[in-house]
Amino acid sequence: MSTFQAPKGTYDLIPPDSARYLAVREAIAAPLKNSGYGYIETPGFENVELFARGVGESTDIVTKEMYAFETKGGDKLALRPEGTASVLRAALEANLHKAGNLPVKLWYSGSYYRYERPQKGRYRHFSQVGAEAIGSEDPALDAELIILADQAYRALGLRNFRILLNSLGDKECRPVYRAALQDFLRGLDLDEETLRRADINPLRVLDDKRADVQKQLVGAPVLRDYLCDACKTYHEEVRALITAAGVAFEDDEKLVRGLDYYTRTTFEFVHDGLGSQSAVGGGGRYDGLSEMIGGPSLPSVGWALGVDRTVLALEAEGVELELPPATSVFAVPLGEEARRVLFGVVTELRKAGVAADFSYGGKGLKGAMKNANRSGARYAIVAGERDLAEGVVQLKDMESGEQEAVASDAIVEVLKAKLG
Ligand code: AMP
Repeated sequence: MSTFQAPKGTYDLIPPDSARYLAVREAIAAPLKNSGYGYIETPGFENVELFARGVGESTDIVTKEMYAFETKGGDKLALRPEGTASVLRAALEANLHKAGNLPVKLWYSGSYYRYERPQKGRYRHFSQVGAEAIGSEDPALDAELIILADQAYRALGLRNFRILLNSLGDKECRPVYRAALQDFLRGLDLDEETLRRADINPLRVLDDKRADVQKQLVGAPVLRDYLCDACKTYHEEVRALITAAGVAFEDDEKLVRGLDYYTRTTFEFVHDGLGSQSAVGGGGRYDGLSEMIGGPSLPSVGWALGVDRTVLALEAEGVELELPPATSVFAVPLGEEARRVLFGVVTELRKAGVAADFSYGGKGLKGAMKNANRSGARYAIVAGERDLAEGVVQLKDMESGEQEAVASDAIVEVLKAKLG
């Protein structure tokens, strides 16, 4: 029988690298937890209709990339391709917006699934940490989210990322622009699929990566020229607030993003060391989404940062995260009696909050010390029959190599003191 492999476009997180993923998730979540965002967890799958309506029938995510399936009971479900629609669905279902405390601020962390052509930085299963602020139209909220994402990346030590910012207008001015853009696009020499896209979602044609299309797009109407006064004022305020916070950004009038629900503020975090999959995170305002999925009007804003690409960005910059050692003390028993005594010591150390591990399987001194070395422990404690007869264990400093005898009943306190 052949052995199994992870499905195409997926990979496993295994030690020691998995520790970095955990640290990245925690670093992204930390500023959110510190800013009034509560943790939310939703199912890994939803009714397919939620995404069709919420993400958009014309988006690649829904038409090409969704893992949709029918259950034995006849339910039409899909693995979640993104987080926003689910989080908003859950908030509406729990009536969080009626508790009289808007905005409802939520953060999440989890797995997402898209049937994409796999390449470096683009997987079929990936991981995001996200934040949504639901039910409030306030430029300070848009600014808050951008500032918190910037803070998360900086706390991780990332430097070579850029923030691209744009406004997509609202339900007043966007349709006017959309019509003008459609007029322009109809006059171009485009293939059939692109023309169809121009009909359904013309803004996304601006995103086309092909050079021959981009050449023709020179002179296309620019959204900025069509923004209504309310949208202009709103956008200027967002820009002023993030500027005042010392967060640098670039105005990018071509930034439209691949989802249908965005209005007004749109942003993307890109990293220049990642090649073609350069977006490490993105988000924006989605004032119409709640109504699109059957809820009341709830203007909202949010982002999702990709954990996989953030780890790749850290690698590209050569940033080494300061990870706490998995093990501080490694116990090496020589003989049956020592095994019982040191196992007790390890249990006590762990209770005291000291990361401790043990040489299992009755290994000899040489093999066990190899394990101690590999564990990265700062100290090893070794005990054989003679030590026990004298009521001591040997405490070895793994950095200096020095060794001293310490009374068995004092070893926990001694190690606690040494490890601070
Ligand atoms: P999006 O909803 O497409 O804007 O995705 C938000 C973030 O999730 C992106 O900036 C990426 O960091 C990450 N992401 C999206 N799709 C993938 C994928 N297929 N593989 C890895 N990361 C992804």
